Amino acid sequence: MPPLPPDLAQTTILNAAGTLTRLSGARIAPGVAKAMVEAAGLSFDMWKLQAAASRRIAAATGAEAGLVTTGASAGLTLAAAAAIAGLDPVKMDALPLVSPTPEIIVPRTHRNAYDRALRVAGAALRDIGVADRETDAGVRGLEAFEVEAAIGPATVALAANGSPATAQDIPLLAGLARAHGVPLIVDAAAQLPPVEGLKTFLAAGADLVVFSGGKAIGGPQASGILAGRRDLIASAALQMLDMDTRPEAFEAPPEFFGNGPAPVLPRHGLGRGYKASKEAIVGLMAALDVFLARDAGAIERRTRRRLAAIARGLSGLRGIAAEIVPGRKAGAVSRLAIRVVPDEAGMDASDLAARLRRARPAVYLAEGRIGENVLLVDLAAIRPEDDAALVQAIAAALGS
Ligand SMILES: *Cc1c(COP(=O)(O)O)cnc(C)c1O
Repeated sequence: MPPLPPDLAQTTILNAAGTLTRLSGARIAPGVAKAMVEAAGLSFDMWKLQAAASRRIAAATGAEAGLVTTGASAGLTLAAAAAIAGLDPVKMDALPLVSPTPEIIVPRTHRNAYDRALRVAGAALRDIGVADRETDAGVRGLEAFEVEAAIGPATVALAANGSPATAQDIPLLAGLARAHGVPLIVDAAAQLPPVEGLKTFLAAGADLVVFSGGKAIGGPQASGILAGRRDLIASAALQMLDMDTRPEAFEAPPEFFGNGPAPVLPRHGLGRGYKASKEAIVGLMAALDVFLARDAGAIERRTRRRLAAIARGLSGLRGIAAEIVPGRKAGAVSRLAIRVVPDEAGMDASDLAARLRRARPAVYLAEGRIGENVLLVDLAAIRPEDDAALVQAIAAALGS
């Protein structure tokens, strides 16, 4: 393999912050990268490649069908487009502007910065409920009557977030979605591991679920999964794949269309700009195989050994104290919490993070607890052979 061009190679970093998108997501395992290189040199019929991926996604998630997208965010937009248009080619061609404006109902406590992806397809979000439980103002969560009151002729879907704080609402939302004949879309982008997270939300009644490929699954950074009901996945596929095909020449894959008649074909859809590449599809499927076979116990033991060695390396340094802390939710691996004592270090956690960012190579630590003067070492995206350099960089930044 040729080396990276030097100007690009100079921008590589030591990423001890986790599989963050702005820090380029997961590192791809050599076996997965090899599959991607092989795919790059071959040609495919993209409908057939996506159909093969659909079979694998179905097996891994329990869904009827699945589609490789360019990420969870693209998956949300395609899910909304499928909920709005179904298999109607006229609506598909009209998106994102259809009248009256379709509505997707989202409990207020599930709202987050990624849900605009649903609006991109042309839907308006209607947020409902109150955050009593989440704000410690009261004991009550989402109530069925609040959802029922919002459902009307413009409703095309309900949407939910799969986080531990919000997942408890999913069975209620699933029941109401079914009763009113609209799909429930669940954003589970950040809910892996555990591996069981691939199945949890569909089993709880979701019609469509999205995952990121470039985070915990360890696939290509710009990849993701949309999985769920066959007719909705078929709609998403029709709105993403290249549709410059003669209708007589279109062979509708049974993975998406069952044994029914071929659909009336739309023109290029709303999702054309989100087309997943052959490298991404093959890479994500190879990464999914590795992810499905992961031994969570062994990963946690290996992680703790590495964190303990890093903690030993940092133990003599003035101004910080390091401690291994367990992951915050089921299946999450441990991390190292580095507490900065400003009076001793002569700097706070924000200053230390800034110095590390300016190091060569730049070092990034997770900042989820920076408000408590704590930086976290997350090993998900850093090579074991870089652990020593990480310790040295922290020592240098502290001026030791
Ligand atoms: C990361 C993330 C997304 C977006 O995922 P991509 O695969 O980067 O498009 C959406 N929702 C949540 C909750 C996320 O954490």
